[in-house]
Amino acid sequence: MEFNKQLKDIKNYSAGKPIELVVREYGIEPKDVVKLASNENPYGSSPKVIEAAREICDKMHLYPDDSMYELKEGLSKRFGIKSDEIIIGAGSDQILEFAVRAKANETNSVLMAKTTFAMYEIYAKGVGTNILKTPSDTHKLDEFLKIYKSRKDISILFLCVPNNPMGETLTKSEIYEFLKQIDKNTLVVIDGAYQEFAAYKDKQMQIEPKDVIEKFSNVLYLGTFSKAYGLGGMRVGYGIARDEIIQNLMKLRPPFNITTLSLKAATEALKDNDFVEKCIKENFIQMKRYEEFATALGIEYIQSYTNFITFLLKNDKNSSEISNSLLKKGIIIRDLKAYGLNAVRITIGKRNENDRFFEIFSQIYNAGQ
Ligand SMILES: *Cc1c(COP(=O)(O)O)cnc(C)c1O
Repeated sequence: MEFNKQLKDIKNYSAGKPIELVVREYGIEPKDVVKLASNENPYGSSPKVIEAAREICDKMHLYPDDSMYELKEGLSKRFGIKSDEIIIGAGSDQILEFAVRAKANETNSVLMAKTTFAMYEIYAKGVGTNILKTPSDTHKLDEFLKIYKSRKDISILFLCVPNNPMGETLTKSEIYEFLKQIDKNTLVVIDGAYQEFAAYKDKQMQIEPKDVIEKFSNVLYLGTFSKAYGLGGMRVGYGIARDEIIQNLMKLRPPFNITTLSLKAATEALKDNDFVEKCIKENFIQMKRYEEFATALGIEYIQSYTNFITFLLKNDKNSSEISNSLLKKGIIIRDLKAYGLNAVRITIGKRNENDRFFEIFSQIYNAGQ
């Protein structure tokens, strides 16, 4: 059978390996598997969220509220924006897809950092648009500008701040200076999946959705409940932009794209700020241990504004071999070989999970692999 030609070139997103796979393949007890591969919240979800989700289990036969009134109210209060300036997606991933379908096509181009969130490229390929990347692995706005100014056909710019899988971010003032130089017909996606972490670590890195969309009519800010809020399994993300952008993205949204349970969970999660704050605080306490660990082993790492850390390995070590050896011991991390890097990305876990990682990683590392 023939399929649309742009599909030929798409490699499936390789999601972090699930715990079940390690249990099946290596015969390790589920309780001994340490999953540090998908940037999930190691502390789970807020107990208040779990309770609220339980209470609406008897509503599963009904379609969810397609206006998503409650969740939009929560978000508009949180950010000081109007409901018309919000779109909800099955993960912020789904909003990325809407954005690409709304703006990119075979006659134009999209621009992103060389090493960034893999889904930008996958969605872009899906619509057959031309994909441009900056030379550097991390975000260098002068590189973005140089490419942007050298052509007239860029429909979307992706800024992943903080950047997954590298961990670096940009200051608000750098981003604002950059945005001033971008044409209002170019959509700038500011992917803030880890903004809660960045804002906690350094206020200069915080991008406030209200402020950025007030100042720049062409920005789409994305946030997610999958990371700091601990709801990866619920699939809820949001986009914030001027209503003209939101109205157009809404045309691509399938009805009932979020489940009843997910809507409830996200709405409740927004109310439990203490939980999120505690998780973020502990994240950076544990992050420091990773930095010290890397330094002690002479491993270079990137200053991270997220819930993961990326180790850049020397040539005499192989990121794939190390990741595989860890997997056999029940520790799942992310090898970045597929990005062309001899590097690994490790989600910051709970204290005891990190202890286990340090122990096994140093054994493998010192033994040569
Ligand atoms: C995790 C992540 C997302 C989206 O996650 P969803 O679960 O789809 O909301 C978006 N961008 C980046 C950079 C991410 O790491």
